[in-house]
Amino acid sequence: MSAQRLLRTRCFPRLPAAMLRRYSLDASNPLLRTQGYVNGRWLSAASDFPVVDPATGDEIARVSNCGPAEAKQAVDAAYEAFHSWKRNSAKERSVVLRKWFDLMMLYKEELAQIITYECGKPMSESLGEVAYSASFLEWFSEEARRVYGDFVPSPAKDRKILLLKQPVGVASIITPWNFPSAMISRKAAAALAAGCTVVVKPAEDTPLSALALAELAEKAGVPPGVFNVVPCSRETTPAVGEVLCTDPLVAKISFTGSTATGKVLLKMAADTVKKASMELGGHAPFIVFDSADVDQAVSGAMASKFRNCGQVVKQIADAVSRGATVLKGGKRLEGSFMEPTLLSDVTTEMICTKEETFGPLLPVIRFNTEEEALAIANASNVGLAGYFFSQDVSQIWRVMEALEVGMVGVNEGLLSTPEAAFGGVKQSGLGVEGSKYGIDEYLEVKYMCFGGLKP
Ligand code: ADP
Repeated sequence: MSAQRLLRTRCFPRLPAAMLRRYSLDASNPLLRTQGYVNGRWLSAASDFPVVDPATGDEIARVSNCGPAEAKQAVDAAYEAFHSWKRNSAKERSVVLRKWFDLMMLYKEELAQIITYECGKPMSESLGEVAYSASFLEWFSEEARRVYGDFVPSPAKDRKILLLKQPVGVASIITPWNFPSAMISRKAAAALAAGCTVVVKPAEDTPLSALALAELAEKAGVPPGVFNVVPCSRETTPAVGEVLCTDPLVAKISFTGSTATGKVLLKMAADTVKKASMELGGHAPFIVFDSADVDQAVSGAMASKFRNCGQVVKQIADAVSRGATVLKGGKRLEGSFMEPTLLSDVTTEMICTKEETFGPLLPVIRFNTEEEALAIANASNVGLAGYFFSQDVSQIWRVMEALEVGMVGVNEGLLSTPEAAFGGVKQSGLGVEGSKYGIDEYLEVKYMCFGGLKP
């Protein structure tokens, strides 16, 4: 992996790199698995690929490089398993998911250690991700039992109308490196609750968290073929992606990642008209109005803007060349890390206000009116989350409704929770994850007309 790619994808703030190494990732971690997981078996491939600790650049594991043949094997296994998994009662599926959740909690330290090592987060953030990731298993273990259909009043006396929700089938799940556990469980928990089976292709940088989830799934009693993982290198990814997005046995693709990759996958999936959920890039506006409680706004900014990082260097250089001022930070730190950076005199022409930033970068734009702030925020062709701070109740309602985003934080910088719907509008994606709606992404509604009835 080139230093440039590391830098692009691996920057976390507040991280004394030495702190990360207090925890050593070694063979004693009972959840460390390095093979693919297909049909309930650990599967080697013809070659393997390295997983690198972004804090040091050291190789921490070599993982089986599953190719299109292994991906096809996983799809076939998932298809086979679908026919029995969907016939389990909702309560049976619920019990398995709950057990999986309990195991994640039991092994939270081991899971967090893996996240820290392959993804570069401090342990506190990794533990937070494990709790967040597990919360989807808990939530969807509960939602599994609430997949109701409808009994619809019929206009004809000799007919009854029923709407039945049924699982769509095999779902391909493709996820990014920044939340290597939660982005998988958020999708897989909903899919399994609905009665679907899945094939997961984790990000090439972070396959170990996915494989640790598979280990716990097996312990929890997830039957063979229901949850499969095909890790692969960056080079092998397009060939594996093609199988996962075009195989006729796959009914649905669910992706989290960049808008550009999402479009590629959508195009591939179009040929066989698969259902698709897309959680794509965002560029969250963060607006502080005159009436805002400034302390609250600062806490919100720290929480929402200084978590995951990357891609910032080219954006800072671009902004400075167009007249922005670096008020704080701006430099690269030891290893792959980046200083928290504050930019002023920013204009909407600069890349940092257009492209998604995975970095500790705050570009500040001054505005005079609410209309102006909304115009800047809504000018984007993506719309994932938006945040604003205000104490003016009328303004809060106006801005909440006018922001063109899928999620709004009012006087709040962190929104994610399994009870609420996570998803974007515009080119930020299709569908939502979490909430009572998340499971619908893995269900189809069948209209059943029961006719010829004698009054
Ligand atoms: P990032 O910039 O975070 O790496 P990507 O959208 O490129 O964002 O990656 C997100 C996920 O999409 C990763 O698992 C990556 O391997 C996968 N991916 C990228 N290109 C393809 C492809 N052609 N087919 C399938 N998966 C892909």
